[in-house]
Amino acid sequence: MGKKRNKKAKQLGHLPPQHDFFLNPHNDARFTRCPKCDGLTKLRKKPLMIFIKLVQPVSLNKTCRYCPNCDLLIVHQDELDQQVQQMCVQFFPHLLGEEYLVVGTVERKAWKEGYQGKATLGDMFATLHDFKQHLEFEPARWMWVKED
Ligand SMILES: [Zn+2]
Repeated sequence: MGKKRNKKAKQLGHLPPQHDFFLNPHNDARFTRCPKCDGLTKLRKKPLMIFIKLVQPVSLNKTCRYCPNCDLLIVHQDELDQQVQQMCVQFFPHLLGEEYLVVGTVERKAWKEGYQGKATLGDMFATLHDFKQHLEFEPARWMWVKED
């Protein structure tokens, strides 16, 4: 089919972009060290804005790995898959199993109001920081395997 996936069409949020972002697909790599600078990463709880099937925006408060040196936010895909799935089961059963895209972070206050059903979609975009860029990394030991 060769479907084209446009990961980042344009800036959605009204606030300046923040953080580089890495959605980690490797279940066995937890990136307690930064894949860019090898510094220790910290745990940070961040309200993420996610589009399910590019139509349904949701915000999820997620514990992420964060490298302050590189301004790099890392989310483990297996954990996020599970949280998105739980949300779909509860609120959007018709979107269960659909692809989703993490677009950025929202201000904590807006996330709370959205969670309580007080915020509109416009409110959410007004408090959204897109990511600066989406990055991908392989666990280091895989590179060793390739060099053999
Ligand atoms: Zn780093």
